[in-house]
Amino acid sequence: MSEASPTWSIADLGRFVEVEQRKRRVMIVSLTLVGVFFLITYAIVSINVNLVGLGVFLLGCAVVGMFNLLYLRLTGRDAHALGVLNVILGSLCMVLLITGGNANTGPYWIYPALAVGIFINRFRIAVYFGVGFILLSAFVLFAFDSMVLATYTPSESIRFIITLTALAAVSLTGLYQHETAKDVMMQLHNEDIQKLAFYDGLTGLANRSSFLRRLQKMLDRARRDHRGLALLYIDLDKFKQVNDRYGHQVGDRLLAEFGEQLAHCVRPMDEPTRIIADEDVARLAGDEFVVTLTDTDDPALAESVAQRILDLFANGFEVDGRNLPVTASIGIAMIDHQVDSAETLLNQADAAMYEAKSNGRNGLQFFSQDIERALLERHNIESGLQVALAENQFSLVYMPIYDSSSLSVTAVEVLLRCHTDVLQGIGPDRFIPVAESTGLIRHIDQWVLAHAFAGLKRLREEHGFDGVMCINISSLELHNVKFADEVAALINELSLATEGVELEVTETNLAVDDERSVATLRRLKSMGFGLSLDDFGTGYTAFSQLMNYPVDRLKIDRSFVDGLFSEQPARRQMVNMILSLAELYDLNVTAEGVETDEQLTYLQQIGCGWLQGNLLSEPLTEAEFVKLLQRRPARQSAP
Ligand code: C2E
Ligand code: CA
Ligand code: CA
Repeated sequence: MSEASPTWSIADLGRFVEVEQRKRRVMIVSLTLVGVFFLITYAIVSINVNLVGLGVFLLGCAVVGMFNLLYLRLTGRDAHALGVLNVILGSLCMVLLITGGNANTGPYWIYPALAVGIFINRFRIAVYFGVGFILLSAFVLFAFDSMVLATYTPSESIRFIITLTALAAVSLTGLYQHETAKDVMMQLHNEDIQKLAFYDGLTGLANRSSFLRRLQKMLDRARRDHRGLALLYIDLDKFKQVNDRYGHQVGDRLLAEFGEQLAHCVRPMDEPTRIIADEDVARLAGDEFVVTLTDTDDPALAESVAQRILDLFANGFEVDGRNLPVTASIGIAMIDHQVDSAETLLNQADAAMYEAKSNGRNGLQFFSQDIERALLERHNIESGLQVALAENQFSLVYMPIYDSSSLSVTAVEVLLRCHTDVLQGIGPDRFIPVAESTGLIRHIDQWVLAHAFAGLKRLREEHGFDGVMCINISSLELHNVKFADEVAALINELSLATEGVELEVTETNLAVDDERSVATLRRLKSMGFGLSLDDFGTGYTAFSQLMNYPVDRLKIDRSFVDGLFSEQPARRQMVNMILSLAELYDLNVTAEGVETDEQLTYLQQIGCGWLQGNLLSEPLTEAEFVKLLQRRPARQSAP
């Protein structure tokens, strides 16, 4: 399937054309030089035997030939130079024929000149040239022999015409072969171009566009014939980590290997009747693959194929003797009456795949009504965010953070709000994940940072705020190599000090051994920012790994504070453990979501440094926050 065949790239073609052009140029130049040499020699010989007219003509040709070279050198126009060379050759032949040269040997000089003509004109023009010359000389020799200065015997004339005809036949054969070769080349080339357009270079599977085209056809046919159709959307879990950890080459090998096994997997021995076309297995992008199963409305069959695919990862995935810790998540969509576009079916399977992922990965999930609702919501949120970005319909609110011993405002967390109609009542906990999955988050984070920095500058300069400002950034930014520079540019623009600015990153999305993220965190830290791990306790950070992250603060997730006095003692134990851990690693701690006096007292007692929650203050507008500051002056106190 992914057998490597020698393929031509556009660059190869460019080089080929260049080399061919250079060869042709060299040929024109050298043949002209050789020709000029012979012209001059023959001119001298002719003048010596008193054929002065012929000699002068030949010398003239030599001079034109030399000028032709000069012209070629100055303009680089091969075609023009070739044309002039042809005219010289043609006139030379005619003159030799008419004058007969020295003792009627003129015609013998014509043959090499014509051979040169064939050679340089490969081959179409050579044929015209040859045929034209045959007609002309036959005319001169037989019909208008009064024009001819020399005297040829009839057999000499006939031999001459026959030899010319043979030369023309040679040109014709050359032309035919040349054209055939060109056809073959074009055909080969077309195949390559088709491959580029329809197949994925890495795996040799169909690519997104050819797959979608075929899916649409199958969908139309299935609806017409009242048959079923199932679509499996496969996404590898933790593929990014493989890339980060082992490098892109290993990642590519994994994709190629999986692509091949996938193709085998859906063409099982036990269902020999199922005909699977090449386009039924495709790689859409990155680590996303799809499989279509035609003529089936049986979910069990779709499930069994999906299970076979999952089984490929049962013991990790072997690539070049290395066992990679990847699994797959599979979403399955079966057509029903409403689905009429390939795009819709694909989106359904994709949404089901996302569901499989959020259900803990390494599993399969069928598309359902619930998923459909979620899909619709995501869609609305996405368009709402786009509108908000275009129309600047965002704002920031300020949630005060209190020092637990003095209960004075010591910091503030800025939180994003969106005011477009579609997003009324939808908070960042729902729209930020959509922004993250659609890539809009980069623009949003930039917007937040720029406005938060500007707000901080106002708070500091106009209202004497000397506390810490905490700003949320998406952990996706840690993979963005430009992020630190972009932040630096914003800071420089405002001449803002980075001390007293803390960036919050959600722990959940940080990957194990994620060197890129750690590097970005280090860079931000070296720029003077404080760093905190948000929603701590909900993710999978191995505690030992905390040391790798250059963070200053842990934010205990709201759910733990909420559960402090619940039936489950585990929640309270978790809070206690996070505090011990922080002490061990010399980290500060903020507890968020403090809503009751009981929670407040407990957190104060166990020495949690900073507190935040609706009990103390809800998120405020900037004006409200300024008023609060005026009532209780902020105080910077690192607990
Ligand atoms: P987070 O960073 O954990 O922010 C704290 C969230 O908990 C805020 O919700 C805040 O209003 C809420 N909260 C704090 N104390 C209480 C409480 O006592 N009771 C209740 N009911 N809620 C409390 P919000 O503003 O809806 O933000 C949700 C999440 O959205 C944030 O969680 C953060 O992950 C993300 N987010 C918010 N603003 C931004 C932003 O500007 N950029 C990025 N990238 N993410 C943001
Ligand atoms: Ca936060
Ligand atoms: Ca949080």
